[in-house]
Amino acid sequence: MAELSIENIAKRFGETEVLKGISIDISDGEFVSLVGPSGCGKSTLLRIIAGLEEQSSGDIRISGQSVAGQRAADRNLSMVFQSYALYPHLSVGENIAVPLKMRRMTGLQRLPLLGNIMPGAREARGTIEQDVSHAAQILEIGHLLDRKPGQLSGGQRQRVALGRALVRNPAAFLLDEPLSNLDAKLRVQTRAEIAQLHRQLDATFIYVTHDQVEAMTMSDRIAVMMGGRILQCAAPDVVYEDPDRIEVAEFIGSPK
Ligand code: ADP
Ligand code: MG
Repeated sequence: MAELSIENIAKRFGETEVLKGISIDISDGEFVSLVGPSGCGKSTLLRIIAGLEEQSSGDIRISGQSVAGQRAADRNLSMVFQSYALYPHLSVGENIAVPLKMRRMTGLQRLPLLGNIMPGAREARGTIEQDVSHAAQILEIGHLLDRKPGQLSGGQRQRVALGRALVRNPAAFLLDEPLSNLDAKLRVQTRAEIAQLHRQLDATFIYVTHDQVEAMTMSDRIAVMMGGRILQCAAPDVVYEDPDRIEVAEFIGSPK
């Protein structure tokens, strides 16, 4: 069964229909990129999956269960925003701890953190500090925990945002153009690190980008979106070599 089923999602803002019936099944552990030109609805779809925006119609199921009406915090999905959205007055460690503290405040059971990621880690869990430290270790930012975001490079801030997503031990990571604020060299490096993180965690990644090259190099499958629809969803080489439609070929840059 697909871990994440997106079923005929439509979204209108007033008169404007931004998503026109999006369906895609994403398997457990898969890395799927949503690509398409600016304004085609990628961020809106990701926000709906995360529970930050409500769809006009359609359903989302995680492991067969509809998440209709479920709050973002309860969906066990972690979103990484383009802007990173770090709290400037909090240290790196405190920023990473925010989702765990919120979970505690809302009285929700803490999930066994990273238990499925690092062997033996489930038993070792105890404090928020330990969970933060494990996440920081995976992202190699353990030495930065006391700094403030303003004292970090762009690449380091990006890792902190990933750390804050990772610390929740989510079923899926939702990443909205996480590299777009980095310079070209760092983008290539960080791309490789995100791919490595995906292999290491064995978690589901939904990765939004308008950069088709980025998507081609990282993904198991690419969903090419345009005008609120998915035109084609397939492995990168299939989309490149055998595009369904001229619009897909033009966007991906397939040989004519
Ligand atoms: P993308 O991420 O692919 O660039 P978005 O999902 O951000 O696209 O936006 C898709 C379309 O929906 C755009 O035309 C945008 O202006 C519109 N849109 C997004 N959010 C809102 C909103 N809250 N209210 C009205 N229109 C919106
Ligand atoms: Mg966007």
